[in-house]
Amino acid sequence: MTNSGQSEEFNFPALVNGLDFLASAVGSLSGDEGPPGPRDVKYAVLHLQAAVETLLKARLEIHDPRLVWTKVSAFDKRKHEAGDFNSCSVKMALERLHDTVQIESAIDPEEDSLKELGSLRNRIMHFGWRDTVVAVQARTLPVLDLLVGFVNADLLPYVDEPAEAWSAEQQMEQVRTGFKHLADFIELRMQALHSQLAGYELTTAACRSCGQFAVVLDGGAYDLTCLLCGRQYGTGKDAAWEFIGSCEHISITEGGGGLNGCNACGNYAVISTPTAHSTESETWICFACGMMFDDVCEFCDQAADLIGEMGMCSDCYEIRLDNF
Ligand SMILES: [Zn+2]
Ligand SMILES: [Zn+2]
Ligand SMILES: [Zn+2]
Repeated sequence: MTNSGQSEEFNFPALVNGLDFLASAVGSLSGDEGPPGPRDVKYAVLHLQAAVETLLKARLEIHDPRLVWTKVSAFDKRKHEAGDFNSCSVKMALERLHDTVQIESAIDPEEDSLKELGSLRNRIMHFGWRDTVVAVQARTLPVLDLLVGFVNADLLPYVDEPAEAWSAEQQMEQVRTGFKHLADFIELRMQALHSQLAGYELTTAACRSCGQFAVVLDGGAYDLTCLLCGRQYGTGKDAAWEFIGSCEHISITEGGGGLNGCNACGNYAVISTPTAHSTESETWICFACGMMFDDVCEFCDQAADLIGEMGMCSDCYEIRLDNF
C-alpha cells in the first residue's frame, strides 16, 4: 500500500458503485485477469451479491427512495441519506421492481440463480465452503446474464447526469467483454463434457443452478448431479420436486397434490421440462427412471401414451370398456 490515495476523495453514486462491484466480479470470474484461484472466486461471489443488491436498489431509488426501505411508511429523508435504515431484501426489491416500478426485464422474484447466489454467499460468510472454481463460474453465469440485461434495459436509460452516464457506459463495456469471455469458457467446458452427454440428449435436463443441460436422468442408479457445476439433487423424485420449485412436504401441507405417476417404474416423479434434445419445448419425463411420455392421463394422473383424442391411458380405457 502506498500513501498516495490517502487524500483522494471518492464518490460512488449507487449505480456506479453497483457496476463497480459487478465489474470486479466479472473480471475475476472471466479469467481475463488470469485463471481465477479460490480466493478470487470467493471475493467474486461476495462482489456479485453486492452488485445484485446495489443495482436493484439503485433502480428503486430512481423511482422512489422510499421503496428501498423495508418499511416504506417509516421513510425518513435524513436517516435515508445517512444510510441509517433497514433496506429491503433482494426478493422484496424484485417484487417492487416488478409490481410498482414495472421494469422491462422479466426477472422472477423466485429466480433460482439469485437464490443460489444468495446461499453461496451465506455459506462463504458463515459456514465455510467447498466447491470447484468452474462450479462457481457456471452458477454465476445466469446471474450475470440477468444483471447485464437489467442494467441495459432498466438502468442505463434512466441515468440523467452525463458524467455518471459516461462512467456507467465505460464500466458496462468492461462487464460485457468479461461476460462474453466467461460464457465462451463455460461453452468450452460443456464441449469437454460432450463424451459424457452425447447420446443422452432426450433425457438430459437443464441444471437449476447453472442453467446448462448437464443433468442426466440416468434411470435411478445414482442420485442426480449436474455434470458441469456439481449441484446435487438427490433421488429422481427429490429432483423432480426441486425442478418444479417445491417439495412434497410443502405441497401436501398447502393442500396441493403430488407429482404425476410413472407407469413404467411406479414413482410419482413425472414432470414436464425442456431437454437437451428439445430445448424450446417441454417433454413429460420421469425423473426416477428417465422414461418419456406423450402426456398425462386426465383420469388417473398417470403419465402415459394416451389413446386417441380421449386424453385417457390404456388402463383407464380398459376399465371403462369393462364397465360397459
Ligand atoms: Zn449445474
Ligand atoms: Zn419412472
Ligand atoms: Zn389413466
